[in-house]
Amino acid sequence: MVELNQRQGRIIEIVKEEGPITGEQIAEKLCVTRATLRPDLAILTMAGYLEARPRVGYYYKGKSELKQISEELKKIRVGTYQSKPVVVDKNLSAYDAICKMFDADVGTLFVVENNMLAGVVSRKDLLRASIGTQNLTTLPINVIMTRMPNVNYCKEADLVHEVVQLIIDKQIDALPVVKETEAGLQITGRFTKTNIARVFLDIVHSTE
Ligand code: ADP
Repeated sequence: MVELNQRQGRIIEIVKEEGPITGEQIAEKLCVTRATLRPDLAILTMAGYLEARPRVGYYYKGKSELKQISEELKKIRVGTYQSKPVVVDKNLSAYDAICKMFDADVGTLFVVENNMLAGVVSRKDLLRASIGTQNLTTLPINVIMTRMPNVNYCKEADLVHEVVQLIIDKQIDALPVVKETEAGLQITGRFTKTNIARVFLDIVHSTE
C-alpha cells in the first residue's frame, strides 16, 4: 500500500477544496517548485487519489476501489474466521492420532500437556512416522510432533493478513489460536488455509 507523506496529504486537501487546479497552482500554494511536486503528483495519480485532465488540472477522485477493498481486508481479525480447534493429549498414540484426523476431518492436531499448548502434529508428521519401522500404536505423538517453542500460533485479535503472511512464510497449513495464561498457552481456536479461503469467498460475495 502506498503510505502518503505529509506533502502528499496536503496536496490531496488542496485538490479536494480547489480542484480542478493545475500543478503550477498547487506548487505555488505549497511554496515549492513544480519539479519538486512532480513525483508526488505522479504517485497520487497512480494510486487513484487524483485524476489529471490535460489543460484543466487535477481533480480529486478518491481512493481506488482496490485500495478500499485492501483497507477493509486489512481490518479483518482472526477471531471472526477461526474454527474450533481439535486438541489431543501428548500421550496419544500416532495410530490414534491418524484415526482422530479422519474422525475430525482436519489436517492438523494441536497437542496439549496439562491442557496447555505443547505441540502440533500434521499429516506429514504421521506419514513420516508411518514409513518408519515404529509400531504406531505404541508411539506417542509427543515424539513426532513439532514442539514448543517452535510452534507458530496466533491470537483472536491478530490481523488476518499478518497471520496469512506467517502461514506463507513458515509453509504450514494451520495455526493454533491461543490465549496467554499463567499456566501457558490455552488453545481457543484453529486458523487454517480453509479459513483464509472463506475470507476470499466472503469478499467475492460481498461485491455481488
Ligand atoms: P502437512 O503435513 O499436511 O503438509 P503442514 O505443512 O502444516 O501440514 O506441516 C508441515 C510441518 O510443519 C510438520 O512437520 C508440522 O509439524 C509443522 N507445523 C505445522 N503447523 C505448525 C505450526 N503452527 N507451527 C510450527 N510448525 C508447524
